[in-house]
Amino acid sequence: MFAVHLDVVEAGNVCSSGSMPRSNVAPGCNGLRRSSPDTTEYRYSAESHNVAHMSETDRLYLRDAELREFTATVIEVNDEGQVGLDRTAFYPTGGGQPHDSGVLSWEGGEGAVTAASGKGPVVFHTIDGDPPDVGTEVTGTLDWDRRHQLMRTHTVLHILCGVIWNEWGTPVTGGNMEPLSARMDFEFDPLPEGFAERVTDLVNAEIAADRPIEVSFLPRGVALADDDLIRTKVNLIPESVTEIRVVDIVGLDKQADGGTHVASTGEVGRFEVVKTESKGKGNKRLRIRLHDS
Ligand SMILES: [Zn+2]
Repeated sequence: MFAVHLDVVEAGNVCSSGSMPRSNVAPGCNGLRRSSPDTTEYRYSAESHNVAHMSETDRLYLRDAELREFTATVIEVNDEGQVGLDRTAFYPTGGGQPHDSGVLSWEGGEGAVTAASGKGPVVFHTIDGDPPDVGTEVTGTLDWDRRHQLMRTHTVLHILCGVIWNEWGTPVTGGNMEPLSARMDFEFDPLPEGFAERVTDLVNAEIAADRPIEVSFLPRGVALADDDLIRTKVNLIPESVTEIRVVDIVGLDKQADGGTHVASTGEVGRFEVVKTESKGKGNKRLRIRLHDS
């Protein structure tokens, strides 16, 4: 059985798909992205879970975004002292979603995880202090407050993409997030009158609707035949990828995506538009923030 690896080539954008200047799916909601300087590109590669690979990290967060603690084995320590594990729940920076933080501990030692990044098939963890040796068994524990805030933020950006597409048929052109705040660029020219108020109402209504969010792995052929996913330019994912990870806010927004999301829109909290800015013709920026209630 094959699963998708999403290896981030550059830092950048927030949801899935989009302009794919090189090989790949740039995250940005609902595809149709134009190229922008902060485009993130995912390099998808097929991975067999049936075959033991050395030097490959099983990205546990792709299947279980709720996992906060896990055990793993060190498979590599690179020249910078970063620790590669055979499996991890730490999300590595990519797709506009920042890395997780937390702690790795092992017999006789521990270190704070201050960053995580995907390098080819391996996720490397930057830790404070001396790294454990290759072969060491470690326990990883996420800073759950940070991760959950990022999940809420990532999900609200997909909600935003969905409502803006449904209401105005306008594609996203870029974006980025921090815990509980984000910016997204859309191809408006000009912004519709009363836009901030209208979009605030629409997004908060979708949050109140508490829509379930489902993650699935679709065979490539099935994904390519899905009208909703066609909108996200799923067809531009390299043919070597036989299975595509799909994040579906049921009834609102469905896209190929490698990020972590909450289980239903009700978990997001209250949505606020902080400001709107013009970044030039056909490119308007929305800065948003989330509140707990
Ligand atoms: Zn996304």
